[in-house]
Order: sequence, then structure tokens, then C-alpha cells
Amino acid sequence: MEIDSTWRQHLRRPWIMAGPCSAESSEQLREITKEIYRLGIKVIRAGIWKPRTRPNHFEGVGEEGLKWMASIKKEIPVQFATEVATPQHLELALKYGVDIIWIGARTTVNPFIVQDIADALTGVDIPVFIKNPINPDLALWLGCIERIAGAGVKKIAAIHRGFSSFKKSSFRNEPLWQIAIELKQHLPDLPLICDPSHIAGDRSMVTEIAQKALDMSYDGLMIEVHPIPDQALSDPKQQVAPMQLAEMLKQLTIRSDTNKDALFTSKLEELRNKIDSIDHDLVEHLATRMTLIEEIGQYKKENDVTILQLERWKAILTSRKQWGKTLNLNSEFIEDIYKTIHTESIRKQTDIFNN
Ligand code: PEP
Ligand code: MN
Repeated sequence: MEIDSTWRQHLRRPWIMAGPCSAESSEQLREITKEIYRLGIKVIRAGIWKPRTRPNHFEGVGEEGLKWMASIKKEIPVQFATEVATPQHLELALKYGVDIIWIGARTTVNPFIVQDIADALTGVDIPVFIKNPINPDLALWLGCIERIAGAGVKKIAAIHRGFSSFKKSSFRNEPLWQIAIELKQHLPDLPLICDPSHIAGDRSMVTEIAQKALDMSYDGLMIEVHPIPDQALSDPKQQVAPMQLAEMLKQLTIRSDTNKDALFTSKLEELRNKIDSIDHDLVEHLATRMTLIEEIGQYKKENDVTILQLERWKAILTSRKQWGKTLNLNSEFIEDIYKTIHTESIRKQTDIFNN
């Protein structure tokens, strides 16, 4: 996959796009554009066609909003970004000179529509930002990026907006940072932007999530900003007012990827060496544990006893979580580790039973 080599540098960290969830009126869009531009941000987001979960909600102003964008650009030197969800949206966005488009989470999940949009992008030189799919599926995200790149688009970036989950959570969309890290491992040259507004779902959490993304070397942020957030026609809880955006920009700490300072490097090296040594011990312990599992599996088989011993499994989980607790280790973390170990133990014993 070919990414324009100057593209990532062009999005100088932290690259910021901000604006309302939806364009609502020409006055609202002009006012917020002015406020955001005053803070030094030159790319304005605004949804024109809004994918709403339930019908009979505000579904965006449509083509009219594109005219507002074109007219505001004559007064304020900004670029506009909007979401396209069909080839027709793309055609209209291009007609009115939209500068950047993004593919929303509800579109990334659908390879047919993504391919239709990709086909319509053939020969078009416009940056395309691709949001992660609603569900935690890295392959769908990658697939969408590959389809758009396949159309010859060279300026592509990924937007991490979190994933929906049936679990009750303090986030509107669980960040599941690991999925974005895996995307980065697959496509190291692809710029990665965080959308803390859709992850949070609540304006009080936006700065904290934005800081975390920056600390994880994200290239930039997409932030929802509205002149009067509580009166917004979509996503009112998560949008911030321009004042809060200004505050947030002041608060964010921008850390560099590396630090050439010799003292810093040697201390980091020392800590990493310690971690390597502990990990080596951990892996050795796991191997020893697995040898015992094999022995136990053999013993159960010879004595016609089942592999799964529910009471023992419960006791393991309870005691390990308790040990962890006394050492200040998060019990969900311990539970996840032991579930993985237990799954492997069952697999190993099943092998023994089958041989
Ligand atoms: C949006 O950016 O307003 C939007 C609808 O985003 P998502 O696709 O992440 O839900
Ligand atoms: Mn929104």
C-alpha cells in the first residue's frame, strides 16, 4: 500500500481538526469556524449527512451545508472536512470543493459501500480519513483502508473513535487502544488521529483521552466543538464550547517520540533491561507451568477424570485475584491473564486426551 511520503510530515503533531458534530445553520457554522480559526486551527470538521441510530432525529442539512462551507472559505482561510457515506455524497462534496472527507464508523463496516466510495474516488486527489468500524474488528478497518488505497488515494489517515460494546462503561465507545496499536503495527506510515469526542461521549473526559492519545504518539486529534454545545442538534453531551477547546489546547502536553539526552537514554535502557529479564523469567515460569499441566492431563486421562474441574478453576481465579489485590494489581487484569492461561491449559490437556 502506497502512502504519500510527505503526507505524514504534513500532519505535524499534533495536527488538529475541530468543528461541530453537524453543520446546523450558516450562522452556526460561520461563528464556530471563526472561533476555531482564532485558536490557530485551520481544518474544520462538520457533518452534513448524519448517520443516526434511530429515525426521526436530525439527519443533517445536506447539500445546503456544502454551500455554507464554500462561502465561509471565501472569508476565512480554512479547509473543511465532512463525512461521506455514499458515492453521491462524495460527488456533492467534490462539487462544492470540500477539502477532506472522512468515512464514518457505520460505513467502514460495510465493504460494499466502501468499495462503491473507493470506485468513485478513482482519480480524485483528496485526503481521506477512515474511522474505525463500530465493532472491534481490525480486519474491517484495514480492509476499508486497503480499498480506498486501492483506488489510488495517497493521502489516507486513520481515525480512532472507539468501539461500541454491550458492556456498561464510562465511555460512549470503548477505546480498546490495543486495536489501534495493532493497526499501527500493520501500517506504520499511516497517520493515526484520535477522536476523543466520540470515545468519551461526555465533554468532561475529552481532554484526558486526547492527552492519552498524544502520549501514545498519535499524529493528531479530531474534536467536536459547538458554539452552544447543550443546544447542539446531534451529540450535545460530548461537544465542547470554544472556550473549553482553548483551555484544552493550553493543557495538553506534547511529548516527543524520542529524547536524545544521554541520561534519559541510559535510564530508559536500564529499565528496559530489567523488564526484559523479568519477562524472560515469566516465560520460563509459564513453560514450567505447562509441563505440570501435561503431567496433570496424563494423570487425569489414566484415571478417567474429566479435564475441566470447575471448582478448581474457580479456586484458582479467586486466589490469584486475591494475591494480585494485595500487590495492587487490577483484578480484571489478573482475570484476563488467567483466562488465557486456562484456555491454553485446557487445549494442552485435550491434545493429551486425544492421543
Ligand atoms: C461524527 O464524526 O460525527 C460521526 C458520526 O462519527 P462516527 O462515524 O465516529 O460515529
Ligand atoms: Mn458526532
